Amino acid sequence: MNTPASPRPGLREVGPYDSPQLDVAVRLNTNECPLPLPVGFSDDLAAAVRELPLNRYPDGQMLALREALAARTGHPMDGVWTANGSNEILTQLLTAYGGAGRRAALFEPTYLLHRRLCWLTQTEIVERRLDPPFEIGDDSVAWAGASDAHVVFVCSPNNPTGNTQPLDAIRSLASTSDGLVIVDEAYVEFGGETSLPLVADHPNVVVVRTFSKAFALAGARIGYVLASPGVIEDLERVRLPYHMSALTQSAGLTALRHAEEAAAGLDAIRAERDRIVRALSGIDGVTVFASQANFVLFQPPGDAKELHRGLLDRGVLIRDLTEVVPNGLRVTAGTTHEVDLFLKALEEVLT
Ligand code: PMP
Repeated sequence: MNTPASPRPGLREVGPYDSPQLDVAVRLNTNECPLPLPVGFSDDLAAAVRELPLNRYPDGQMLALREALAARTGHPMDGVWTANGSNEILTQLLTAYGGAGRRAALFEPTYLLHRRLCWLTQTEIVERRLDPPFEIGDDSVAWAGASDAHVVFVCSPNNPTGNTQPLDAIRSLASTSDGLVIVDEAYVEFGGETSLPLVADHPNVVVVRTFSKAFALAGARIGYVLASPGVIEDLERVRLPYHMSALTQSAGLTALRHAEEAAAGLDAIRAERDRIVRALSGIDGVTVFASQANFVLFQPPGDAKELHRGLLDRGVLIRDLTEVVPNGLRVTAGTTHEVDLFLKALEEVLT
């Protein structure tokens, strides 16, 4: 009998990456949009899908979707690229600019997947921990420049801390580093300044965005990058043929036709986020961090894991981030009703 095949060294030392999706009443753990899709979206999508020639391969250049994104963002079409979620965009960027023998710089705490994708693409990681308020300052810029990293990750607003990075700091990173500066703007529609204006003068800056949060389309898996044309040419070299299905492209186009309606709901989410911050600030012993995104990071007075469990027992799932921020928990701004249930459960557990 043959022995089982061995995977690449170290593979079995890591687990699968996922955020637990438990069947509970209130799910505030993955920063999704709690709002329903705009009225008419589903009908438009169904009509568009009916017309698709699914017996044929899709447009491998995603031309219609890229054109629509160029029109919406004001960025030239040859600097726009799309993929299945911003996670795939990040993977393609690392495949092209990272890889074995190359290095990426990370500012922790940040989105766990950046680290994970470096591992996946065999990109070495150098990291620097930022203390509250988690801003990239001059010393961090100097550190990144001296690290000779081929890729520098910035996340703004940052997951899980919620703060944005000063545009000047990102500009300095782009000038100081020869590497590709990836600005992950998954939450930019909720607050903060975009780094897009930097791209024209700094062709090593790329801005990565998603339809998963503000567009309420996490299930459709659509992400995009705004960059200089040379970067897009490099991504064309590493993408799989026809990586975005015709169905996904169609969902993206339909979402863009309803973009204004989707954007109209964002104020309600910001209001819930601010309500969470106010409520948490009023609880003795809680440290809460200001947020420009659709979630809030906080540290409870007692054991965060116990609080997480207590909330779960009451049907409220939030994100345990103790691995990343000491005693840290993150809660997504949901609907008013969901936030009410979170705050009620929180009060019960803490008193
Ligand atoms: N970047 C950040 C900072 C995120 O928090 C997330 C989602 N959790 C993503 C990217 C991934 O988004 P997508 O669904 O587009 O892959």
